[in-house]
Order: sequence, then C-alpha cells, then structure tokens
Amino acid sequence: MSDARKILNPTVSLPDGTAVPTLGAGTWNMGENARHRATEVDALRHAIDLGMTLIDTAEMYGEGGAEEVVGEAIKGRRHEVFVVSKVYPHNASRDGVIAACERSLRRMRTDRIDLFLLHWRGPHPLAETVEGFKTLVKQGKIGNWGVSNFDTADMKELFSVPHGDRCAINQVLYNIGRRGIEYDLMPWCVSNGIPIMAYSPIEQGRLANHPDLIAIASAHNATPAQVALAFVLQHFGMIAIPKASNKAHVEENVRALTLRLLDDEWQKLNALFPAPTEARPLEML
Ligand code: NAP
Repeated sequence: MSDARKILNPTVSLPDGTAVPTLGAGTWNMGENARHRATEVDALRHAIDLGMTLIDTAEMYGEGGAEEVVGEAIKGRRHEVFVVSKVYPHNASRDGVIAACERSLRRMRTDRIDLFLLHWRGPHPLAETVEGFKTLVKQGKIGNWGVSNFDTADMKELFSVPHGDRCAINQVLYNIGRRGIEYDLMPWCVSNGIPIMAYSPIEQGRLANHPDLIAIASAHNATPAQVALAFVLQHFGMIAIPKASNKAHVEENVRALTLRLLDDEWQKLNALFPAPTEARPLEML
C-alpha cells in the first residue's frame, strides 16, 4: 500500500474562466492490450487520488481503447475529473466532429467531455470544424474546444474564421529538449490568452535518464523526470500531461509539483538546453 499523499495541483484558467489542473495524466499507448488494462486503470485512478485530476485522451489512442480505459478509471468519480479528448482530423467535418464526440462519450460512459480538441490539421476547412465544435458546446456535450499541433500560422488562420477565437487551448509538443515554441508560438498564445498544454513533457520517457539532468535532480533529492516536469510547470499558464501506467511514476510525477528550480539551475538548464534564437517549424511526435 502506497503512502503517497495528495498534492495541491494549481490551476490554469481557460479563456472562459474554467479552472484546469496544471498537471494531468496522458493516455497515449493505453488501451492497446487487454492484459495491461487493469494496471492502466489503476494508474489513472491513483493519479486522480493524488490530485492529477485532468486526463488527456483521444479517439486515436488504441483506436478507442484508451477512452475505454479512461471510462473505467473515472467510473463513479466523473465529477472529480477534467476530461480532454481529441477528434481525428479526417473526422473533423461539421457533422463528423459531432459523430466522433458521441462515440467518445459512449466509450468513456459519460455525457460530457470538458475539452475537445482537433488532434492536428487535416482535410476539413477549419471553419467547418469550428461549426461542429460550436454545436457540441450548445448541446452541452463539450465544455470547451481547442486544437493540437497548431503552429503560429495555423493559430492565426484559426482566429480568422468565424468564432475561431473561441479556441480554449493549443496542445503541443514541449519539453526542455524541444523549446522551439518559445520563439514565436508561446508568445503568440500568451498575448492572445490561449493556454498551452505541453505533451510528451518527459520526451516519452527519454528525459528520465538524461545525464544532464541528474546533478540538478540530485540537489533536490529528485529525479531527472521531475526536473523535466518542473521545467514545464514553472512556465506560467502551462499545463503538462505526462503519461504513466506505472504507479511509482505517477507518484514521482505528482511530486514534481513541489520542485522549485533555483535561478542558477535555470541558468545551467538554459546553457545545456538553449532556448531557440530563430523560428523553427513546430515539432510533432
Ligand atoms: P511522456 O509523458 O513524456 O512520457 C511517457 C513515458 O514516460 C512512458 O513510457 C512512461 O512510462 C514514462 N514515465 C512517466 N513518468 C515517468 C517517471 N517519473 N520516470 C520515468 N519514466 C516515466 O510522453 P507521451 O505519452 O508521448 O506524452 C504524454 C501525453 O501527451 C500522451 O500520453 C498523450 O495523452 C499526449 N500526447 C498528445 C499528442 C498530440 O499529438 N496531441 C502527442 C503525443 C502525446 P510508464 O507508462 O511505464 O509509467
């Protein structure tokens, strides 16, 4: 039995004022193998118990399997959790968005997705996707909508279509080794009041063994994964969604909320992982 304690998870405000936990749980690669299902459900429940009450999923993950895992994890405690899911770009026509959302709701056995995202840009005009999202908000099936993997030019185009500026979030790849967005996308989002949700904050586990993070981690009696998370979380208005199907990882990740990097450590990190000095295309995983 773990003696891990719930840790205060600060919130970030969406443009409509909705408060969203700054640290959530990802689910990519969950729901792919029935043998791992109980472990995955357990890990997500543990995350909720410890205060990581945002869960990020997508119809793509396990082709619906991850949403089913989420449905099981939030059973009986839906009110505690902020649920994020995503629609495939090829499903994001005006009517397709609605049909995809209804399938996701059924898989998660809930009547509302708190935040529904376009997973990446695809064949359907943005104006149509936004129309579909608007209908879903009106019907109460989603609370807010947003986008994922949108670079600065995509965000500007989105803001030029009717109601496109109602976008609540942009979910993008961001971690200490992938700082490209700091040059242009992050400042654009900040000045337009759009929070960023950082995916792969531990670089799919690779930062957990990064030799350059070990010294800073040891000084805090922490781990490199926690330093990587603290780097993301110390950016104002940033949400991070590490995925962990291992309960010990969940506990480690939640404790990253209490890790404060010192000024000289920021300097060291900036020297080891330099901020961008020119625009780079948005990276995706
Ligand atoms: P990640 O969260 O950076 O890394 C996940 C990996 O790190 C897993 O293998 C996990 O292992 C391991 N891990 C977690 N915590 C750890 C710790 N404290 N110490 C050591 N290893 C640890 O990568 P990700 O899954 O790519 O990204 C997170 C979430 O973002 C996804 O799950 C998904 O929800 C979302 N995402 C969105 C997009 C998009 O296009 N919008 C793309 C990628 C990801 P265990 O599972 O064994 O614990």
